[in-house]
Amino acid sequence: MEHKLMELPYDLGALAPNISKETLEYHYGKHHATYVKKLNGLLENDREKANYTLEDIITKCEGGIFNNGAQVYNHDLYWNCLTPNPSKISTALESAIGKDFESFEQFKEKFTEACTTLFGSGWVWLTVDSSGKLAIEKTSNADNPLREGRHPILVCDVWEHAFYIDYRNAKPEYLAKWWEIVNWEFVSDRFESVKK
Ligand code: MN
Repeated sequence: MEHKLMELPYDLGALAPNISKETLEYHYGKHHATYVKKLNGLLENDREKANYTLEDIITKCEGGIFNNGAQVYNHDLYWNCLTPNPSKISTALESAIGKDFESFEQFKEKFTEACTTLFGSGWVWLTVDSSGKLAIEKTSNADNPLREGRHPILVCDVWEHAFYIDYRNAKPEYLAKWWEIVNWEFVSDRFESVKK
């Protein structure tokens, strides 16, 4: 099975000015597309892993196949977590956040802090464990909490390529604008589906 570059649920310029069209042209059109291409190349002569889903690759593989497969999954989730349209969080997710982080404001503050303090390249996640508890997690490079059995429902890409064109080294500015375009409907639906 050949892996495909996902279709974006909006136009390349739709997230501007928060994230520019130029950033999407590079981040989606080059970085993300290259991970898909490299993954397919690595799987070409591997009969068994060629049929793995991205989740299989993340939980069972190592090395180049893991790195490229996880980066495809991570970017698919990242783009799906964003929207140019206003979106509303579900009551269920909002109250779970209130329960596990005291308040939505505290959650936002802790998540932002995790992003600003992540050293090097990586991702910051909101995950759900098997008991339904939410957690904020930081991972380096391509790593993904699915490897530890926790389900990601929201992710922020904090690799420099996610913000350098628009914000240069000003990561906090990128994060402030990133919050404004989070697709809370998508994240809420994902929360519902992983609880089942
Ligand atoms: Mn990226």
